Amino acid sequence: MTITPLMPVYPRCGVRPVRGEHCHLIDESGARYLDFASGIAVNALGHSHPGLIGAIQRQAATLMHVSNLYGSPQGEHLAQRLVDLTFADTVFFTNSGAEAVEAAIKTARAYHQSAGNTDRFELITFNNAFHGRTMATISASNQEKMHKGFAPLLPGFRYVAFDDLEGARAAIGPHTAGFLVEPIQGEGGIRAGSPAFLEGLRDLADAHDLLLVFDEVQTGVARTGTLFVHEQYEVTPDVMAIAKGIGGGFPLGACLASEKAARGMTFGTHGSTYGGNPLAMAAAEAVLDVVAEAAFLEGVRAKGERIRAGLAQFIGNYPELFEEVRGTGLMLGLKLKVEPRAFMEHLRDAHGLLTVAAGDKTLRLLPPLVIGDAEIDEFFEKLSAASADFPAPEPA
Ligand SMILES: *Cc1c(COP(=O)(O)O)cnc(C)c1O
Repeated sequence: MTITPLMPVYPRCGVRPVRGEHCHLIDESGARYLDFASGIAVNALGHSHPGLIGAIQRQAATLMHVSNLYGSPQGEHLAQRLVDLTFADTVFFTNSGAEAVEAAIKTARAYHQSAGNTDRFELITFNNAFHGRTMATISASNQEKMHKGFAPLLPGFRYVAFDDLEGARAAIGPHTAGFLVEPIQGEGGIRAGSPAFLEGLRDLADAHDLLLVFDEVQTGVARTGTLFVHEQYEVTPDVMAIAKGIGGGFPLGACLASEKAARGMTFGTHGSTYGGNPLAMAAAEAVLDVVAEAAFLEGVRAKGERIRAGLAQFIGNYPELFEEVRGTGLMLGLKLKVEPRAFMEHLRDAHGLLTVAAGDKTLRLLPPLVIGDAEIDEFFEKLSAASADFPAPEPA
């Protein structure tokens, strides 16, 4: 037997965290890492947050799980809170981002098909998108590395270039049901859609009775300094998938929709055994108690600006390493001129700083939203030291 008990789908690195303290992870060997990955934008409150721990402990001791066959005071409360905080009129809870996107895809198809338009099923999606790893969500992305070995893909997706409004317009046809887009591509390399692109998609959706679906799984829940990034664009979707930060580490996602967009999602059309169980609801309430406060959001913007401005100045010292700073709030990216994976490994192994590599030669910087000035200083010290002793790439 050579296969590992953990199915070997991840090339896991040597860091083996066993404990977390605020913005740091502690390894089996006792080594400390500054966490600018946050479990890929999940640990919004960092590690060991007393409010989140207390909420989960109390709920675990009271009631962890009941079926969605029963009434859910916990789910009703959180759904109402999300409705009050957003454009949405209704919420479906899931256990992950991909399931939230799946629910959004089903909502968009059902919007048309429940009205008798059974030939309108196609979502226009964008090159280098990432929507998850289920069959539908890999089919929604043009990235071949995620398709290989899993044919046939699910039909009903049409890919066009990201940030290309004319391409999106040209792709609209008799089968089009809507657009599915990340306002800022995360995995794709912290690539922000332009305001004209997102506004243009909204206008096209309105003109052709299409649904505009935003995947805010990574950008959402205060990561960019507003509760959702579309608030900064002043473009409102019809449907939105969220996950990652909403549970602060507890697995939770949600599909939010306007009443009109959700017209096809009637009794019996969708479901989930765990989705929205009381334990997950308690975790999300504790996260929102912190991140939905205006002063907290302002703090995320200020800290993001501080890091962004510091990076913009810093990268000038190493023009052979860095190309540009990307992103907004605490969803930041450094576009490199070298292989991002090699630099990410150097930061991690030689300097104890965890970041996440992304597409387009970009390194993602996703600290916990509760990061303080001391950890920001530590970040710049580590980045500075790592840039100084990064082995120069071999001449080509
Ligand atoms: C992470 C992510 C997903 C998938 O979330 P999972 O919880 O891994 O299923 C979907 N969309 C975006 C934009 C993401 O960043």
